[in-house]
Amino acid sequence: RRAEFAAMRDLPAITTDGRRIALMVNAGLADDVAALDVTGADGIGLFRTEFQFLVSATLPQRDRQQRLYKEVLDRAGDRPVIFRTVDIGGDKALPYLTHASENEENPAMGWRAIRLALERDALMKVQARALIEAAAGRTLNVMFPMISEPWEFTAAHALFERQRAWVQGRGRPLPTLIRYGTMLEVPALAEVLDLLLPQLDFLSVGTNDLTQFLFAADRANPKLAERYDWLSPAILRFLARVARECNAASVPIAVCGEMGGRTLEAMALIGLGIERLSITPAAIGPVKAMIRTLDAAALRACMSGWLAQPPPDLRAAIRDWALRNEV
Ligand code: PEP
Ligand code: MG
Repeated sequence: RRAEFAAMRDLPAITTDGRRIALMVNAGLADDVAALDVTGADGIGLFRTEFQFLVSATLPQRDRQQRLYKEVLDRAGDRPVIFRTVDIGGDKALPYLTHASENEENPAMGWRAIRLALERDALMKVQARALIEAAAGRTLNVMFPMISEPWEFTAAHALFERQRAWVQGRGRPLPTLIRYGTMLEVPALAEVLDLLLPQLDFLSVGTNDLTQFLFAADRANPKLAERYDWLSPAILRFLARVARECNAASVPIAVCGEMGGRTLEAMALIGLGIERLSITPAAIGPVKAMIRTLDAAALRACMSGWLAQPPPDLRAAIRDWALRNEV
């Protein structure tokens, strides 16, 4: 079906009842931006800035970071790019960053991402300046990883705003707009989301980490890989609630974990009211083909029934619905 997917490149991802779904790609290297042209995706919904750190033998200095971010923005053109600040530490330890590689019993739940960045704030200041200067004259979208409590977002946001003022004070050109968002990967954040929503320009659910924390199941443990299903009532109810809150507050919500790249899972997400997906480039064609045959309103009606009274095998119910409706 390769040729069929390629032929859809320039067709919109629109459901049969007229819902326009934003399909974006996940990226981490400058060359990944080429996937935008190949797939016809709407933008980069997750740019993992830690890739540059992980492939470097030494800490990437500001000029190197800035060059990468500018190249990504240049190549993306009008299409939006969401830069996620570094998610390093824990199991993504860097040899040149002392203390980050100290042995931790549970590195995925350890001193990583925003936790490390707020303490080692010199690191994030450098990254903030690199992003702000790289996006001069354009919109900059920044997203923070592993936010568990609203104050972490507030502190990261304030750090960026101080760097913006610093750049401005030097008379250098600024981004026309900086939009700030958070990842939702830690279940605790969902319990206090109402407190954070007024500060957010967007939110993106990282279902890889979210699933591991929701089920207390290591995402890297092959013994558990098949055990917990993305189409289980616990996850879908959780996501339904987050989607409802975001949609009610008019804060755009996306999913940027692997879940959104699987066709049936992507369909279920749309059925929960999540209409922005950032996925691996190879999944754009199959997911777009699904979207173009989907009646989203009909699915949403079924989905609320399934979540209220989950059938014994929710995956089977969703799959049967897709087959019956020729999605
Ligand atoms: C996630 O956790 O779902 C996510 C997108 O981030 P990463 O896979 O980089 O941890
Ligand atoms: Mg994650």
